[in-house]
Amino acid sequence: DPIIRVKDLKKIYRVGEIEVPALRGVSLDIQPGEFVSVVGPSGSGKSTLFHILGGLASPTSGLVKIDGEDLSAITDRERTRLRRTKVGFVFQRYNLLPTLTAMGNIEMARYFGGNTGPLEQSFIDLLKTLGIHSRLHHKPRALSGGEQQRVAIARALVNHPTILLADEPTGNLDTENSVKVLDVLRDLNSRLGQTILMITHNPEAAAYGHRTVLMRDGRIVGEN
Ligand code: ADP
Ligand code: ADP
Repeated sequence: DPIIRVKDLKKIYRVGEIEVPALRGVSLDIQPGEFVSVVGPSGSGKSTLFHILGGLASPTSGLVKIDGEDLSAITDRERTRLRRTKVGFVFQRYNLLPTLTAMGNIEMARYFGGNTGPLEQSFIDLLKTLGIHSRLHHKPRALSGGEQQRVAIARALVNHPTILLADEPTGNLDTENSVKVLDVLRDLNSRLGQTILMITHNPEAAAYGHRTVLMRDGRIVGEN
């Protein structure tokens, strides 16, 4: 069974009197362990799709299932739980809390995911894989962009999400740091089987995925 099933998904934003159609009927199946790139011009609906998959926004109509759970039918409370436990989100601008250390950011996400007690050895190993284990006592501003993004990836994975959604994860990074972050994503996918969806504008980044989905004007118009 697919781990993500999207069928005829529509989203209309209402801004005062104006209706902005962002998704005009998107259907997409993602199998467990896939690494899928999502590309397309600005305004084509990529972020809206991710926000719905991530429980940050609700659809206007259509079906969205993650791991068998129907997102269109759940309450706000259940949506919050889903956001904190089943989905890991990585953003272009990292979105780390500046007053907490890197470890503090990770621990807070873990706490909100309902996980307490000592960190699992497998997660400590992951921090080493990410190359940030010696940087965790620093606050975000003392870290490079690439380090901040790898902390954000650790934070996104601390509750063992079903899917990792990465919205332009290399958009703020230079080539060297982009390659580090992309190599980490590939490693998480191939060694741990982490299912990943990634929005990118960069064709070299998109090539890290097993397949690429092309969006335009709120629709999927191609795949390769
Ligand atoms: P992309 O990620 O491909 O750039 P978006 O999903 O951000 O596309 O946007 C799709 C369309 O929806 C655009 O026309 C955008 O202006 C509009 N849009 C996105 N978010 C909102 C919002 N919160 N309120 C109103 N319109 C929005
Ligand atoms: P980025 O390119 O860094 O993802 P965007 O400018 O596309 O940032 O969007 C930032 C936020 O603003 C997103 O949460 C998006 O949903 C929202 N947004 C995008 N377009 C509009 C719009 N036309 N009106 C209101 N909010 C929007």
